[in-house]
Amino acid sequence: MRYAMAIDTLKCVGCSDCVVACQTENNVPQGYCRDWVKETVNGLYPSVELEYRSERCNQCENTPCVRTCPTGASFVSDGGIVLVDSDKCIGCGACIESCPYDARYFHTDGTVDKCTFCHHRVSEGKDPACVSVCPTKCMYFGDMDDPESDVSIALKNRSYKTLAPETGTKPQVYYLV
Ligand code: SF4
Ligand code: SF4
Repeated sequence: MRYAMAIDTLKCVGCSDCVVACQTENNVPQGYCRDWVKETVNGLYPSVELEYRSERCNQCENTPCVRTCPTGASFVSDGGIVLVDSDKCIGCGACIESCPYDARYFHTDGTVDKCTFCHHRVSEGKDPACVSVCPTKCMYFGDMDDPESDVSIALKNRSYKTLAPETGTKPQVYYLV
């Protein structure tokens, strides 16, 4: 079992419904977010394209955040989902420093928080909240070990990229291009 997400950059319209759904589902404090939408301009004038990307923790296979955590609060859970045990987190911020994607933040309770791929929903067989609300259905989620999963099929049929692959983190959020 290896959970992953594929996001179609050609279908994303940058509406941020995924961000609002995540904040609501996960009681993210006002002014903070576990996911966000990034806009980049690709190409050179006059052949330029605007790319919207819904970004979050990449649930990396190689996890500097887990390696640098001194208490074991950051750990890899079932299906490769990286979680934070708030009871063990001492708020030292080592994981925030080591994440190349700026995917973690300090919660108002003093511990570190981040995207969990909605682990609580996934363990009930549901999609993460962001995936379930996307109006353009541009996100695909599932088990990479299952060739029939939505994410496996999406990656089989399209070209894709990951963010900052040169960091060696082996991200498990893929962007269809
Ligand atoms: S994106 Fe950052 S927080 Fe998420 S698993 Fe990778 S290194 Fe850790
Ligand atoms: S802030 Fe918490 S989760 Fe992050 S490294 Fe320190 S103890 Fe671990």
